[in-house]
Amino acid sequence: MNLNFGLIGTGFMGKAHAIALRSVATVFPHVPTPSLTTLVDADRNKAKLLAAGWGFSGFSDDWNRICADPEIDVVDICTPNHLHREMALAAIAAGKHVYCEKPLALTSDEAREIWLAAEAAGVSTSMGFNYMCNPLIELAREIIESGEIGEIFNFRGSYQEDYMADPQMPFSWRCLRSQGGSGALADLGTHLINMAEYLLGPMSAVMSSMSTVHKQRPDPVSEAMREVENEDIAQVLLAFERGCPGTMEFSRIASGRKCGLCFEINGSRGSLVFDQERMNEIRLYAGSDGVGRRGFRTILAGPEHRDYAAFCPAPGHGLGINDLKVIEVRNLLQSIVDKKPVYSNFANGYRVQFLVGAIEQSHQHKQWVDVAPSRQN
Ligand code: NAD
Repeated sequence: MNLNFGLIGTGFMGKAHAIALRSVATVFPHVPTPSLTTLVDADRNKAKLLAAGWGFSGFSDDWNRICADPEIDVVDICTPNHLHREMALAAIAAGKHVYCEKPLALTSDEAREIWLAAEAAGVSTSMGFNYMCNPLIELAREIIESGEIGEIFNFRGSYQEDYMADPQMPFSWRCLRSQGGSGALADLGTHLINMAEYLLGPMSAVMSSMSTVHKQRPDPVSEAMREVENEDIAQVLLAFERGCPGTMEFSRIASGRKCGLCFEINGSRGSLVFDQERMNEIRLYAGSDGVGRRGFRTILAGPEHRDYAAFCPAPGHGLGINDLKVIEVRNLLQSIVDKKPVYSNFANGYRVQFLVGAIEQSHQHKQWVDVAPSRQN
């Protein structure tokens, strides 16, 4: 079985998806091999040049072409956030499976519309929440579910980067509500929100505070200062349905942090600590060491952890971010074959967007917002 992919966008994520589409059959030979059919970018020259380099048989500067093309099975969306809705809805209407970068949409209502359309059409969907595909995140979930660290008392998470720490960093689509949606929340928070619910189950309430530190940035063309419309920093208090509290902090101006997606989970018998900048390690405190030997120990990723062995037979050698994308693509291909939803699909994309909306609402009204799944319609 071959599945023909049309990929839209050739930036950071477009390239990561192209690498994964080309590699997945080598790593996971049992899933259908993607055919790199058409590469689309608004910049026609870029589309042409990169289609040749990345191994696509065709290229275009019009994304509608791949939705109308009966040969295309999967539409892969790697464009700025405000374009996801229109592209995803068109692809779904044409009966294509859809793989979309996060966030699914700019608002909870839009995300719901896309999710419902995909459900009604019966197509497979997948979201670009790649950090979830780390074999050690699965290990963390197993450790939590087995009861090894006991009853969970607290979740403390953060995702911090410094790509906008410099106040002179030019204005971009990420600074506009109409194109990026929220700021650090959409860009970074969505990953950790999805991961926290995967590990601990649904949240029940959120309370937040958001701030924009660099309120203006220079336009990349005119150099005139423009108003930034969304937050640099978001801080969130959480309650999970399972009864434990938590906190999360997101920042795009945290100097020195490059991919600081971190969490610490404290339980009655132990704790877990993860940091994406050291993505091949997870630290476990199991509370069982003898006197004088107490403290966290570091577990290195290895072939005994889910999916690692498909890349490498040796422990401690490590995976990278592009390997997580290969796993994400494998999950999508498998879900198309099995006709079963993947975690993370558009239902998760909608749930995350619902939570993002509630966090923004909490900040606006300075009050707790109920986010139990039963509140989602
Ligand atoms: P980018 O600016 O590097 O690339 C965007 C690409 O889309 C560019 O090639 C641009 O020319 C193209 N494009 C814009 N409008 C288009 C149109 N109308 N038709 C066709 N092509 C068009 O952006 P990026 O960093 O790759 O981000 C893209 C998406 O990926 C965003 O939604 C972002 O949130 C997400 N993202 C996810 C991760 C992750 O870890 N999963 C990381 C970075 C970005």
